[in-house]
Amino acid sequence: MKKTDKFLIEELNIDPKILSYINEAEKQLEEQFKTLDDVTEFNQYKVLGALQKNRVSDKHFSWNTGYGYNDAGRETTEQVFADLFKTEDAIVRPIIVNGTHALSLTLTGILRPGDEIIYCTGKPYDTLEQVIGIKGKAGDGSLKDFGVVYKQVELKPDGTIDLEALGKTITEKTKMVCMQRATGYGWRKSMSVDEMGECCSFVKSINPDIIMMADNCYGEFLDVKEPTEVGVDVMAGSLIKNPGGGLALTGGYIAGKADLIKLISYRLTTVGIGKECGLTFGQTRTMLQGLFMAPKVVNGALKGAMLCAKVFENLGFDVCPGSEDVRSDIIQCVKLGTAEGMIAFCEGIQAAAPVDAYVTPVPWDMPGYDDPVIMAAGAFVQGSSIELSADGPVREPYIVYFQGGLTYEYSKIGVIKGLQAMLEKGLL
Ligand SMILES: *Cc1c(COP(=O)(O)O)cnc(C)c1O
Repeated sequence: MKKTDKFLIEELNIDPKILSYINEAEKQLEEQFKTLDDVTEFNQYKVLGALQKNRVSDKHFSWNTGYGYNDAGRETTEQVFADLFKTEDAIVRPIIVNGTHALSLTLTGILRPGDEIIYCTGKPYDTLEQVIGIKGKAGDGSLKDFGVVYKQVELKPDGTIDLEALGKTITEKTKMVCMQRATGYGWRKSMSVDEMGECCSFVKSINPDIIMMADNCYGEFLDVKEPTEVGVDVMAGSLIKNPGGGLALTGGYIAGKADLIKLISYRLTTVGIGKECGLTFGQTRTMLQGLFMAPKVVNGALKGAMLCAKVFENLGFDVCPGSEDVRSDIIQCVKLGTAEGMIAFCEGIQAAAPVDAYVTPVPWDMPGYDDPVIMAAGAFVQGSSIELSADGPVREPYIVYFQGGLTYEYSKIGVIKGLQAMLEKGLL
């Protein structure tokens, strides 16, 4: 018997049956893990290259005060991201509070009254609905208040972009077409970078001036290419997800064409000042070190997600994506089928955490949700979802969203404890 299995059985009271499920799943995943390691290795060298090219040194880890003119650390960090994502420019700041903020700056920086935007991957991520004005009160300052027209094209039943419908939706007023790479709180596959590229070519063949935008949250380092390498003009994401590597304390990034980044920077600070000002508050070291670690961290999280998918699939549960599917985000959805199942699984995840492991997660009424939501997370950085977490609204068909894990071993113990909690309640 493996030393670890003996320890898990004797010290942590894990049922040997669960370890046999896990070992079996790991064996089945061997080849896929190898394929993933290849992508990770590539991305590690890509990040390393961007750091070296920009001659990152100790001086870039310090910061200045006041207006923040000529902050070498800030300017170099932004150039590293621009080089990494093969874009002309980037904004990477701790004062961007999350992914929603980065996306909101992108939209509001570029769009003008009378413009039309189209989301071609169905409904956008929940928090963007108020930004756009799909939800929320008139007068709050959404895009809709400023006369921006929103249109949505649903995905086809097989989860791919409906290019035909998109083509019919585009008009002369269409300024921007947006794609969301990750699943969000849905039951759909994530968008591959190649598919995003095909969509870009299609839209540009209709009108090359249309700006292609990507919500890249949760997608960084899943592939050897990022959306900006296949025709996306501007993309945004969060530093407390993949590219922060678990080390960035906060922040977001926006990368894209120089003229677009300029407009977005005018929204970030003021027209005229743009990205010439703004402090980094000593965060450049953790942002850059986190970026350096990110490919490996994403690798661990992704292997954990694949393990979770395989085990539950073997046990007869519905999972999305399937354990063999190509992935373009780190999220694993599992249809647990009962509220008890969701709660037990989340309790197990919480019990596996390095922080707040003693806490019991309970479903609660969260603003913006119609059903109680359960969330298990014990993170070094609050709300960081590159760290292990499991959550979901407690409603039929009782889907739990599992993501993150700074190391594979940690993600794996999460799955083990989640299964153990379900087994103890007779739910497996
Ligand atoms: C996480 C996420 C966001 C932004 O969420 P924040 O919590 O604001 O960082 C946006 N879109 C998608 C698809 C996401 O997964």
